[in-house]
Amino acid sequence: MHEYSFELTTENWKARESARIKDGNVLVLLKVDKSERHLTFDYTIKGEVQVDCDNCLSRLQYPISDHVTLHIKLSDEEIEDEVDLIHLPSHTTQWDMTDHACDSVELSLPMKTVCSDSINREECDEEYIERMNARSDDEDTHHPEWDKLKDLFKQN
Ligand SMILES: [Zn+2]
Repeated sequence: MHEYSFELTTENWKARESARIKDGNVLVLLKVDKSERHLTFDYTIKGEVQVDCDNCLSRLQYPISDHVTLHIKLSDEEIEDEVDLIHLPSHTTQWDMTDHACDSVELSLPMKTVCSDSINREECDEEYIERMNARSDDEDTHHPEWDKLKDLFKQN
């Protein structure tokens, strides 16, 4: 059993150009259990990332905490990878798990990230939401195409 730790920082998120995660600091604590052709990576991710609120677009510090198990098999057969199972050529001596760890951070985020779940439990920018609602109301009421159709029906 071997233990490692590393951090996912600004550099990692910049390189990734993630649509959701703008920046972040996430500690990865990794335990590797190794047998001849099979490695088990057990790791925790803990820290915070910057995401936008899905309600009001405010930038948030969002907490990250998850546990991931990944199996790596050394094999020269062509086998398709799965979410938690990766195949590597049997002569592999090094493997960079940064991408997998970044993926895990993204996957650990809920479908919607909102102010109230952020680290500081902020409140949404109500003014922004009101402005957006007012704008979409406007759009809803102006449908020139529909008005033309209504006229058509009236003629019949
Ligand atoms: Zn918000």
